[in-house]
Amino acid sequence: MGTTASLRGSDLRDLAMGLRGELLLPDAPRYDSARRVWNGMYDKRPAVIARCASAADAMRVVDFARAHQLLTAVRAGGHSVSGKSTCDGGLVIDMSPMQGVRVDPRRRIARVEGGALLQHLDRETSAFGLVTTAGTVSHTGAAGLTLGGGLGRVGRRFGLACDNLRSVDVVTADGRLLTASKDEHADLFWGLRGGGGNFGVAASFEYDLHPMDSTTLGGAIGWPIAQARDVLSFYADFSMSAPDELNLDMAMVATPEGLRIVLEVCWSADLARGERVVEPIRALGKPAFDNIAPMKYLELQSASDRRLAHGIRFYGKSGFITELTARNIEQLVDVFAAAPPGSFSIVIQQSGGAIGRKPISATAFPNRGANYWLMLSKSWTDPTQDGPRIETLRAAWKALEPVTDGLYVNAITDDERARVPINYGNNYPRLQQLKRKYDPNNQFRLNANVLPA
Ligand SMILES: Cc1cc2nc3c(=O)[nH]c(=O)nc-3n(C[C@H](O)[C@H](O)[C@H](O)COP(=O)(O)OP(=O)(O)OC[C@H]3O[C@@H](n4cnc5c(N)ncnc54)[C@H](O)[C@@H]3O)c2cc1C
Repeated sequence: MGTTASLRGSDLRDLAMGLRGELLLPDAPRYDSARRVWNGMYDKRPAVIARCASAADAMRVVDFARAHQLLTAVRAGGHSVSGKSTCDGGLVIDMSPMQGVRVDPRRRIARVEGGALLQHLDRETSAFGLVTTAGTVSHTGAAGLTLGGGLGRVGRRFGLACDNLRSVDVVTADGRLLTASKDEHADLFWGLRGGGGNFGVAASFEYDLHPMDSTTLGGAIGWPIAQARDVLSFYADFSMSAPDELNLDMAMVATPEGLRIVLEVCWSADLARGERVVEPIRALGKPAFDNIAPMKYLELQSASDRRLAHGIRFYGKSGFITELTARNIEQLVDVFAAAPPGSFSIVIQQSGGAIGRKPISATAFPNRGANYWLMLSKSWTDPTQDGPRIETLRAAWKALEPVTDGLYVNAITDDERARVPINYGNNYPRLQQLKRKYDPNNQFRLNANVLPA
């Protein structure tokens, strides 16, 4: 893949003239803010940032990238934990100016542009009493999250974000804008649902929406960490038998009041029934706090936004878990107890329900057998802490990784890239064929990369 060293000023001027959006070079006043991504550790300096205002812009920029063989990153919300939506010395196709969301309440469909954030999607749909699955931090991009799968608080009810797609308008490596759906380019549609950014630049998505009350029973309940074994054993049983309307996430964290094990509840159906469903959680042990209460879904969806704000330095290792066995629980408790307090958090996001009821071959997303997504992570602000923080976390992960059986392409670290084929399993050869058809030269490689067959 080439660099921009060979680009002539006239090439760039021609491109800039052809775009509705801005073309930012390093001397542009807005370049510095436009190059920043969510994870502050990735302080990269692309040679060109193309801020697309339309699908036609994306087509022109993809043509330009191909003609000049540029290293190409694609960006929506900028949340890639491993900084894949930026690069040094290459081109960033920045879709973030395109944040439109249009809801058709009669047909229960949302059309969402390729740079929209989850908060845009959630806000527009909730105004009509409708919802589709979105992740747990509202400044995440809908595009990146959906293309890699998309877990969220209503995923057990309605499936992954990608399971709710009706169609995607995507600019493939040859610069064509294709509509992929079950009726058109169905092969590509299959790959876009879990295959990540491998097949092109998504200009817009159409999602199915579902009626849902805007008030959920939500919030957190926490116990002193000494009760972690009991809470985890309860969680293992209760979460497996809970109705799909309940999403229960777990965290072992350091708080100003001490180390805690916390369960975060989102009950998204009838509130009175929800109160009865969560009763056993509240009756467990001696909670240190309990703020489960009727809560706007939008409030819950943005509750972690500040803690995980743009610019923090972040490292995380994660993997899927099928079952929380007694041995797995011991391992989780031991790893958390062995580290100095505050070294990292251990979080489990619940999966299963409708996600697991689809066959693995139905879409490219392969981890449907998992009931949990486990993440060990740490955020900090001081750059001198990068080395020690990452080292501590990697060492702890060595003990936890055997608990997992599969990784999430939306959260892989660079040292896990070799595991991408194994993770996709029987879906991988099909992805490789698609890659050969739609991106034979691997223009879109800054992702959980699928190599062309
Ligand atoms: C704080 C935080 C919370 C998270 N919570 C969840 C969660 O609850 N559930 C969950 O499933 N995941 C979660 N994730 C992981 C998240 O799904 C991925 O980081 C995802 O890639 C973010 O998408 P983005 O558009 O913001 O990222 P970006 O960094 O902009 O893009 C990431 C990758 O997506 C691809 N991409 C982005 N936009 C486009 C486009 N328009 N066309 C084609 N390809 C594109 C590119 O390959 C790019 O490298 C979380 C991540 C963070 C940092």
